[in-house]
Amino acid sequence: MSYSVSPIGFVRSCFKEKFAIPRQPQLAPAARGVLELLPPFDQGEAVQGLEQVSHVWLLFLFHQALEDKPRLKVRPPRLGGNQSMGVFATRATHRPNGIGQSVVKLEKVEAGKLWLSGIDLLDGTPVLDIKPYVPYADAVSGAFNRMADGAPQLIGVAWSDAALAQAMDHGQRLEQPLRELVEQCLAQDPRPAYQQPEPSRVYGTQLWDVQVRWHYPTPAQICVLEVVPA
Ligand code: SAM
Repeated sequence: MSYSVSPIGFVRSCFKEKFAIPRQPQLAPAARGVLELLPPFDQGEAVQGLEQVSHVWLLFLFHQALEDKPRLKVRPPRLGGNQSMGVFATRATHRPNGIGQSVVKLEKVEAGKLWLSGIDLLDGTPVLDIKPYVPYADAVSGAFNRMADGAPQLIGVAWSDAALAQAMDHGQRLEQPLRELVEQCLAQDPRPAYQQPEPSRVYGTQLWDVQVRWHYPTPAQICVLEVVPA
């Protein structure tokens, strides 16, 4: 038996590649995007009432991780990438039907467009449905997850003078909190846990239309080297 679903819209996101996207929503409040709704959902009626809601659940497709062969076990980065776990015990992107879910902040609503923050979604992510967050039912008191009981430990993010000036300039041009976005995303330490970074190794990712490059002067510290047009 099979069913087909179709997107109700696509996310235009600050994240242009997977590397350095936080592993869950809410970890980088400066991560912003716009959900552009497709007809017929681009009509005002479809979003009427959402102005009374602070957060929404997005159900979406991990469109850049879809696979034909289902995996039963995965190696979540949260466990260091070297321990495998049943796929249903994790939020891994490689999963049956490739469906993701994120609670994100609703900043502004207009017909056809939802402005979002705190997202963990790649640019171009197809969204299947939107549901309002319902605090009394969705925030479960006493709930636990022994594998992921708290937000990831943060590491320090320092800037070269040049990189900070570049981030401020580009942030102003983009009208986006770019400095905060870089700091919040890099503090999550995007490198794979098994990688011991040499200080000479330069990492990079694209946020909005700029390329951010950084290195690890020590394994517990990031220094942003430059923020330049991508
Ligand atoms: N909050 C969601 C969930 O629990 O289903 C996503 C969790 S998943 C661990 C988060 C990662 O998904 C991000 O770090 C990013 O690299 C990846 N990701 C985001 N959007 C994606 C997309 N459209 N296709 C593939 N991977 C994506």
